[in-house]
Amino acid sequence: MRATDLHTHSAVSDGTETPTALIEQARLAGLDIVALTDHDTDRGIAEAREAASSAGLGLLPGMEVSAKHHGRSIHILALGNTPAPGSDFALKLNEVRDSREKRAQHIVERLGEDFPITWEAVLEIASGRGVSVASVGRPHIADALTRAGVVTGRAEAFETMLAPHSPYYVPYRALEAAEAIAGIHASGALAVGAHLMTVKRGKGLSSDACQELVESGLDGFEVFHREHGEAERAALVEIAHERGLIVTGGSDYHGSGKPNRLGENTTSEESLERILEATSARL
Ligand SMILES: [Zn+2]
Ligand SMILES: [Zn+2]
Repeated sequence: MRATDLHTHSAVSDGTETPTALIEQARLAGLDIVALTDHDTDRGIAEAREAASSAGLGLLPGMEVSAKHHGRSIHILALGNTPAPGSDFALKLNEVRDSREKRAQHIVERLGEDFPITWEAVLEIASGRGVSVASVGRPHIADALTRAGVVTGRAEAFETMLAPHSPYYVPYRALEAAEAIAGIHASGALAVGAHLMTVKRGKGLSSDACQELVESGLDGFEVFHREHGEAERAALVEIAHERGLIVTGGSDYHGSGKPNRLGENTTSEESLERILEATSARL
């Protein structure tokens, strides 16, 4: 059985390593197949594919799409294909990334009134990781706050000044879940709900909300993820069985940006085969 991790991030979004370095880490971790799923961008896929082919690993193209469902922020993994350049969905993702970066700028303006942080410092961190970043976001702000000694790390920043209840917080435009799923399907990929029942306070979806996403065309659930406990895993597996959905697992690796280790959660051979068959993806 191949060791397959279908959820990883490079410095093209909010990971800390280049796609090439990430693939090398995956090889060292004993993985056979990796999906690169940067936030709302596929910019790292070409580099990752080249590195994977040199390292003898399989690379499944992917992306983690930001969306909202009943006003709640959710993530959907697009697995197996990426949007054609210039397609409607590619253009929508461009808008989402622009909106996220403008919002990040607003947050930094607000923070800058009280803390030693500037947009230039955030940009320096985002662009200093050996790869061109697709959009600057809150994780990069968190890194700048950490470097300035304001917080101890990303986790603290996200729980305090970058949290939605913080006076420094600024919302941004995200796609509706149904719109995101339709776009993912139009790209020839499968749509798999990422950590939908996360145990992070107030962020997890109910079974009913997950069922609604299935009605909107969701193809599977990421069940095996560190933010799901036994109860969440069991609830998602039950819906997946009932509805014939694909079940996946992944590490949500972010390099040194998060404690997640490559391969800490994996995807079964059966699920991988279903994804490959449905998307005609080549590894
Ligand atoms: Zn996510
Ligand atoms: Zn992720």
